[in-house]
Amino acid sequence: MTQNFNAQINAFMKDVQSRNPNEPEFIQAVQEVAESVIPFIEENPKYKAAKILERIVEAERTLMFRVSWTRDDGNVEVNRGYRVEFNSALGPYKGGLRFHPSVNLSVLKFLGFEQIFKNSLTTLPLGGGKGGADFNPKGKSDSEVMRFCQAFMTELSRHIGPNTDVPAGDIGVGGREIGYMFGQYKRIRNEFTGVLTGKGRNWGGSLIRPEATGYGTVYFAKEMLITKKESFKNKNVVISGSGNVAQYAAEKVINFGGTVLTMSDSSGYIYDPEGINSEKLDFIKEIKNIKRARISEYVKRYTTAKFNAGATPWSVSCHVALPCATQNELHENDATLLINNGVMCIAEGANMPCTPEAIEAFHSAKLLFSPGKAANAGGVATSGLEMSQNSLRMSWTSEEVDEKLHNIMVDIHATCVKYGTQENGFVDYVKGANLGGFVKVADAMLDQGIV
Ligand code: NDP
Repeated sequence: MTQNFNAQINAFMKDVQSRNPNEPEFIQAVQEVAESVIPFIEENPKYKAAKILERIVEAERTLMFRVSWTRDDGNVEVNRGYRVEFNSALGPYKGGLRFHPSVNLSVLKFLGFEQIFKNSLTTLPLGGGKGGADFNPKGKSDSEVMRFCQAFMTELSRHIGPNTDVPAGDIGVGGREIGYMFGQYKRIRNEFTGVLTGKGRNWGGSLIRPEATGYGTVYFAKEMLITKKESFKNKNVVISGSGNVAQYAAEKVINFGGTVLTMSDSSGYIYDPEGINSEKLDFIKEIKNIKRARISEYVKRYTTAKFNAGATPWSVSCHVALPCATQNELHENDATLLINNGVMCIAEGANMPCTPEAIEAFHSAKLLFSPGKAANAGGVATSGLEMSQNSLRMSWTSEEVDEKLHNIMVDIHATCVKYGTQENGFVDYVKGANLGGFVKVADAMLDQGIV
């Protein structure tokens, strides 16, 4: 990057920082995109004249609202709900809802901003948005979760709709929460429409949607490995998280002949030197999805495995690393450990799990590294397929959806290679994803005038 572009990037970021104070996650996400896109804009002045980048970093609409609900013991609780409707140039706002105590405006703006480029990469007609609440579902009874979801949807229902904004799940929002929110939307609006994705299979949900983000991440990583004439067969794979994305990433890795050595949650990680096979993975699904318990339960049944409290799994030697838990969970020192232990490929199943310094370390070592906005786009892509099925009032088979998902991931990989290949042949997937995602949104914004 030339000095000239650095000056432009710094000036742009200074302005973004002053307009969005105290929002470190959002600034981090914008910085990464600005570094890829500003040199491109300088060479394509039509985007500069229309101030496309300045407009893209400003959400079209940001909603914040009170969510009051009652505990089983009669105590009243108050949470804060959000929906950031970031960009609708390509279609209705689309992106998940996150229920986690760490949710704040910065986190949701970073996620909504990333979603614009991710959704563009899928080639489906989807705008970008994100929402959620600082509600912690852990330790809450089923009826408390239901009352919270109903209170949340009572306000959100005014702002969403199948042609306006179609939320899905994210951390803390799975099939149970989507069901409760859909029920409340239907009660308030008196209409059965595809207003949420990730719905139950017998009432409008798509087959393969629960699997899609994890499967898609592994399909993407497989394409990355193919560029080095490698595959998942006999590769050791370290995975963080044990939620929706991590579970199905592990399932597909096992399916492709790899060995999954670790999974984790916010209490620590388990390391199974013999590998987590399908039967053991079923037990993890039971622990996390049915018992809603901690990952440490695993070592009580599989005693050759070890539980490491309060730690992340990046010190375990592996060929492939799939961070699938949360943002900024893999730091520079973790990247150094992984590199020294021989990692060849890192694909982000979570959103922004690697810090900028960790990504820099992977790039300096010339490793295969793909950002979440490309590698985990299979989830939203399959949500897009769920919307299509709802509009057509039909459902495709698992095989049909899985094949479409696989093709979409192969195409996103090709887009990253197209926009990210450097003169020396190295593929910068960060640049590839940012530029590939940007161009389509930017052109749509040019076509739609100054709005
Ligand atoms: P889940 O709630 O199903 O699982 C989240 C997992 O990450 C759990 O194991 C959780 O542990 C762990 N985790 C959450 N927060 C932290 C933290 N602060 N520190 C350590 N571990 C943590 O969420 P998903 O699997 O759906 O989402 C995981 C990631 O993937 C997120 O970044 C999400 O934005 C991204 N993503 C999800 C998509 C989807 O379709 N679901 C689509 C695209 C991206 P614990 O159980 O202890 O909380």
